[in-house]
Amino acid sequence: MNQTPENLPTWDLSDLYEGPDDPRIEEELLAARQQALAFEEQWRGRLAKEDLQAEDLRQALEQYEALQRLAVLPQSYASLLFSTDTTDPRRGALVQRTRELASSIATHLIFFDLEIGRIPEATWTGLIRAPELAAYRHYLDHERELAAHYLSEPEEKVLEETANCRGRAFRRLFTELTSRLKYPLEKEGQTRELTQSELLALLYDPDREVRRQASEVLGQTLERHAHPLHFTFNTLLLEHQVMDRLRGFSRPEASRNLDNEIPDQAVDTMVDVVVSNYDLVARYYRLKRNLLGLEDLWHYDRYAPLLSERAAVSFEEARGIVLEAFQDFSPRFAELARPFFERGWIDAAPAPGKRGGAFCAGVTPDKHPYVLMNFTGKPRDVMTLAHELGHGLHDRLASRQTLLNYSPVLPLAETASTFAEMLVFEKLQSRLESPRARLALLAEKLEDTFATVFRQVSMFRFEQRVHNQRREKGELDLETMNRIWQESLQEMFADSLTLGEDHRWTWLYVPHFVQTPFYVYAYAFGELLVLSLYARYRKEGAAFQERYFDLLAAGGSRRPQELLAELEIDVTRADFWQSGCDLVAENVHKTEALVREIGQISPGP
Ligand SMILES: [Zn+2]
Repeated sequence: MNQTPENLPTWDLSDLYEGPDDPRIEEELLAARQQALAFEEQWRGRLAKEDLQAEDLRQALEQYEALQRLAVLPQSYASLLFSTDTTDPRRGALVQRTRELASSIATHLIFFDLEIGRIPEATWTGLIRAPELAAYRHYLDHERELAAHYLSEPEEKVLEETANCRGRAFRRLFTELTSRLKYPLEKEGQTRELTQSELLALLYDPDREVRRQASEVLGQTLERHAHPLHFTFNTLLLEHQVMDRLRGFSRPEASRNLDNEIPDQAVDTMVDVVVSNYDLVARYYRLKRNLLGLEDLWHYDRYAPLLSERAAVSFEEARGIVLEAFQDFSPRFAELARPFFERGWIDAAPAPGKRGGAFCAGVTPDKHPYVLMNFTGKPRDVMTLAHELGHGLHDRLASRQTLLNYSPVLPLAETASTFAEMLVFEKLQSRLESPRARLALLAEKLEDTFATVFRQVSMFRFEQRVHNQRREKGELDLETMNRIWQESLQEMFADSLTLGEDHRWTWLYVPHFVQTPFYVYAYAFGELLVLSLYARYRKEGAAFQERYFDLLAAGGSRRPQELLAELEIDVTRADFWQSGCDLVAENVHKTEALVREIGQISPGP
């Protein structure tokens, strides 16, 4: 394995290709395109037939899967290579080349989805039960549901070809506008231009004045750029409305729920239960206010740290903690994680031009996943390492699935990652001796949960409100959007914390509202689900493990509801979601108990 001078690993992509100039990249892409043309030639007009045989459909699916695999590999490689140095024009060009070829492949495959949707009902009923198609049953079922909302092929082709100058163009504009934003921060008479991630990091600063100023600069900068961002969002609200009408979706979030394979009613129930538990947030922030010894809490105090200094962790220590936590849960978990460290599947060294944040990329079932992160020695990085390795284990367990059944649907995608974080969180808690340090870690965990569960639900309600009001009243002005945003977010804090004036602009930079409407509830769904699974593990121990492994190994081969039913989980029931919120309540109680043990903490340096 490669080691940088700081002893941090970088990954080795040679399991995929020799390098960016490997001739196999171009060969495989062209082969995929060739196969797509042959596929279209062979199958167009042959599927939506009364006498379609299961064996033929199976053959078509296998060919489809094989050509997809061929097209995915170069794209995955190009984006992995690009992510460690986004300033290298050769890498950028390779990403672009693989994307353009992928789109040209996709236009030859539109007919396939449409024909699956047009198979006569009587034939379909027989096919979906045929043993030859058992491996693709879930995939076909879902395709058929999606197809009920497709238009005709010429209409779909026009939509696809004009997408780049409609919604997709506005989404790209949003990305370009927001990633070019500079935030001017004044310090001791000098002004520094910060990027968004540099500015947002200051919201966690121990110094209250730094946080207040950062928040003010955030609001002012967004206000200055509000016009194009607001216009973009309004345009997309209208496009969503029109597409819902054409495709026959009854409510703004219905298409997302269908993609997620979660019934509307389950989403509604989860949201209602979370809202009815908003008082947990208020209760915690009242405690935090007392703990910091402040009169009032403002939006810029949300992430104020309770300990201003934390000991640094080396990558070696992080690896030790994570593997030990995994081993305690199950030796199999640790076994699956070890090769990431031993065989160069992790890129942890920060480098100029490297992408920020962290991710785990599952490539194809026959290739192993890769983890990227920027390890800086913060305790938070240990959790991030665990999180991404959790995704990695999920992918490795699901590698027995074929490509079309490999990736878990969105609401289950965070199951293993969040679970892995919980294991490491408990391990870290048990290693800390001072109650102050334990309190700080617990508070950090709770604030994360509030951000993942309650804040995302508030944001989801903001989206519902603006989409619905757009439909009822026409275009919404900036002041109306700001007001809906403030109201939707303030609800979760009640009187424990005030979202001040500069907060009202902050909906403007949230990419999810623009890129993937209604995505945000999946975070709440995933986190509450994992809290419940974790509670089950504590209660059932070893008996739980096998069933949990089965859940992960299923990948995307079955509906989330069906998979969860095997663990006696019913996501349509309010009491299931309440049990998740009860675990959050338990952590709030633990925090209160620790505070009683310690007394007040002075507010930073
Ligand atoms: Zn994740």
